Amino acid sequence: MRSLLVVGGGAAGCELAWGLARRGVATTLLTTSLDTLYALPADAWPGRPPPATLWSALASEARDAAGLQRAGPLRRAAKRELERLADLRVVQSNATGLLRGDAGEVVGVRTWEGPAVRAERTVLAVGSFLGARLALGPAVELAGRLSEMAYDDLRDDLRDTGLRLRRATVALAGDGVAPPYAVEHDVVDEDELAPLRVDGRVVAAAGRARRWAGLWFVGACTGEVGIETAAAAGRDLAAHLAQAPSPGLSGNA
Ligand SMILES: Cc1cc2nc3c(=O)[nH]c(=O)nc-3n(C[C@H](O)[C@H](O)[C@H](O)COP(=O)(O)OP(=O)(O)OC[C@H]3O[C@@H](n4cnc5c(N)ncnc54)[C@H](O)[C@@H]3O)c2cc1C
Repeated sequence: MRSLLVVGGGAAGCELAWGLARRGVATTLLTTSLDTLYALPADAWPGRPPPATLWSALASEARDAAGLQRAGPLRRAAKRELERLADLRVVQSNATGLLRGDAGEVVGVRTWEGPAVRAERTVLAVGSFLGARLALGPAVELAGRLSEMAYDDLRDDLRDTGLRLRRATVALAGDGVAPPYAVEHDVVDEDELAPLRVDGRVVAAAGRARRWAGLWFVGACTGEVGIETAAAAGRDLAAHLAQAPSPGLSGNA
């Protein structure tokens, strides 16, 4: 495969972009904000990165004296490492809808800022940001996490072009630093997805129907997924897609 577009710079999207660009695939990583690249679920995170990931390469840099992974140092190091790769373009932009080719296949995305971004394949790694509503006490806002805006355009485009979605909810009890809050968001209905299995585990999924040819999904937008699982999924999908022939020859393989 020659070119790939990743939408969403969370753990899944960063690992996917890193893995592909390091294998020589011309990759664009498009994400709403460069300030939230590789966001961990908490400022100090006790989990361990999966092996052979960007996160594992940066873990010693992100680790504090108590052995916890810190969100700020990881975000800064991930941005630096991604931006230094010759085959990776990191773009701060918001995808608003899918771009279609002559045969109706997915060939990239439209953006809020204006320019469309094209690639042979497009992977949505948009996490908890599809139609997200964050409820904090009586206040409800359009956000996929605290202080991270989520716009409805991409979700509306997916829904309007016939992709079945279902609602999912994440409720947090509060930890003395962050208050209790809940995020409700859409995930892609599994009937729409043709799963990719590695060692028996589902790591990502391609659009099943013909109108989703060229489109893949990875990470929390496919279901309730923890951060380590999302990182490993991005890693494994990169290995798979780097070997895939161009879509004209292979459909969505
Ligand atoms: C409130 C909350 C709490 C959670 N707590 C935990 C926890 O404690 N432990 C745990 O393991 N997991 C937790 N999770 C699950 C969490 O979603 C995953 O662990 C992990 O963040 C998934 O990574 P991801 O890359 O799939 O998605 P995300 O980390 O959500 O990344 C998606 C990225 O896509 C970007 N994006 C979205 N839409 C667009 C668009 N249209 N255009 C461009 N960019 C876009 C977003 O800005 C974001 O950067 C929590 C989720 C939520 C919502």
